[in-house]
Amino acid sequence: FTAPISVVFSLLCLYIVNLLKVLHNSLSYRLKVAIKKGELVAYYQPIIDAQTGYIVGAEALVRWFKPDGTIEPPGRFIQILEESELINELTLQLLRNIPVDLVDVLKESPNFRCSINLVPQHLESADFSDQLILLAEQGFPCHQLAIEITERYPLKNLRQARINVDKMKALGVCIELDDAGTGYGGASYLQELNIDVMKIDKLFVDTLIISPDRTQVLDANIQMALTLGMQIIAEGVEASSQSKTLLDKGVRFQQGFLFAKPLSAVEFVAFWHESYQAHDKSDSTDIPSL
Ligand code: C2E
Ligand code: MG
Ligand code: MG
Ligand code: MG
Repeated sequence: FTAPISVVFSLLCLYIVNLLKVLHNSLSYRLKVAIKKGELVAYYQPIIDAQTGYIVGAEALVRWFKPDGTIEPPGRFIQILEESELINELTLQLLRNIPVDLVDVLKESPNFRCSINLVPQHLESADFSDQLILLAEQGFPCHQLAIEITERYPLKNLRQARINVDKMKALGVCIELDDAGTGYGGASYLQELNIDVMKIDKLFVDTLIISPDRTQVLDANIQMALTLGMQIIAEGVEASSQSKTLLDKGVRFQQGFLFAKPLSAVEFVAFWHESYQAHDKSDSTDIPSL
């Protein structure tokens, strides 16, 4: 009697697994079509120098403009792209759009940098850095680009990653460690990959409000970055008290809903113009660069 039950159970599991595969494939197929049709576009979140209020950069964050009129954030689909070749197509498309979307900003503000999120496969094969070299030859402003390497995933081939990072650095690209302190890389990535900027994850920025007496990890991260001569960007700054405390701790560059949410390209450029005009240009030499 038990044998048939286990057979039925196995068949049921197989059925469920296949059903999940079909659903997964159909989403990845829809994403492939969406990339071709240009439905995946970048929103840009400002990065602010909290000391002067200047916008020093932006992070490109993908959004899916679905045919039904809704806008989907990356949380529900980015992993599917990241697990396939599709992420290469998406990243290149976002990259090519940066000089178009931000043309005025990049021209008027030579120190402004826009960052883009990469995954390990971009670093572990030469394809991405080679594409970037091609783009640079066509006039892409690499000195106004930053790449974000996340700590969420392990890098299997650190040596190859370093070779590609060096190629990008030679083009003037700034190298940032994203989600710092949350994942695999830790201190080893910082030196092995010759990181220029540490992006301190929201998790640690949150401790300033949730448990202000337990900010040792935040402080240690800041100290490590400063000791290694890196710039720091604090992510997920939502309250002015957080911003102020971070500034006191030496973290000038900040990103978060306190300043702005990720904005469409048109909104971002308007936001930038407004902020740029509000500032006295005579002290423009004081604008720090990322
Ligand atoms: P991330 O790179 O760490 O980006 C920061 C995320 O935090 C963004 O979420 C941003 O909207 C959000 N955020 C910024 N400030 C605040 C704040 O003050 N409060 C809160 N609650 N959230 C804040 P988003 O746009 O949903 O992106 C989520 C993640 O998806 C990104 O995390 C990144 O890992 C990934 N992602 C986004 N765009 C791309 C892309 O083009 N390529 C790749 N590979 N990954 C991407
Ligand atoms: Mg990022
Ligand atoms: Mg981040
Ligand atoms: Mg993050």
